[in-house]
Amino acid sequence: MKSAFISGGKWYKGNTHAHTTISDGRMIPQELANTYKSRGYSFLAITDHRRYGIHSELQSDNFLIFPGVELDVVIPGTFEVHHIVGISTPDKNKFAHGHKFDYDGTKLTGKSIAELLADGGNYCIYAHPTWSQIRFEEFDKVEPIIGMEIFNYTTYLGGNTGYADAYFDRLLYDNKRAFCFACDDTHNNGKADYGGGFIMVKAEELSHKSIMQAILKGSFYASTGPEIKEFYIEDGIAHMKTSPCKTHTFYATNLRGFAQHVVGATEFSYKLNGKEKFIRAFCEDNNGKKAWSQPIYL
Ligand SMILES: [Zn+2]
Ligand SMILES: [Zn+2]
Repeated sequence: MKSAFISGGKWYKGNTHAHTTISDGRMIPQELANTYKSRGYSFLAITDHRRYGIHSELQSDNFLIFPGVELDVVIPGTFEVHHIVGISTPDKNKFAHGHKFDYDGTKLTGKSIAELLADGGNYCIYAHPTWSQIRFEEFDKVEPIIGMEIFNYTTYLGGNTGYADAYFDRLLYDNKRAFCFACDDTHNNGKADYGGGFIMVKAEELSHKSIMQAILKGSFYASTGPEIKEFYIEDGIAHMKTSPCKTHTFYATNLRGFAQHVVGATEFSYKLNGKEKFIRAFCEDNNGKKAWSQPIYL
């Protein structure tokens, strides 16, 4: 059996993208941390624009802060931008708390900011590509990334540019390895943009190391509501088990999607055709809330 999630361990809820008054958010770091902690989250990354944040003083036994930042560039002469979130663990990150990234956003490229973050011990997540209006051929040049935001709540609320499913599939059909994240990109600028997009990580324990290892193994899913309880392949059949949903879909190589539309269903299966290089699971509930698994690579 090949499962997307580790066996054993526990589920931990987290948000990987958020801003504070240190950049253009309206909450001070303490308020932001309290907002998530009081909603049952286990971890949060504080990723202010061009200002590295560690914020270890906001942690407690049952709530972790991941170090992070968001960097941006513009493609000169276009409306296209690249925003990239870098997150890390306290032992891997090399940037100081408060480090200011001072650069001309028209001079650097998406790849160069991704490399800058990776050189500083951070893992790059490509932020809100639909909002960024980025052409796929530009998006595709940005590396190294561990994944991308398939859902970003604040851009969903602001301009309904929060979903990016087509970008994710394009990467996977091109045989790239990437994970999908759902996040809030919290600003609290007149809209309560928290609690709308999150990841659920199945990890051995609540520690930076364990959560990051689980993310890097793909033992997590992105969601705006539904639960993906299981996603695995056994005897050539892919299975997903979820909270009650109206649509379940598998996406894979050499497959134009495989869907079931049954209100209230909690499972769905697909017999592999043998040509799949990856397969991923997706579901949507009666309220239009969605969840996305990571790909299982074959
Ligand atoms: Zn952004
Ligand atoms: Zn942001």
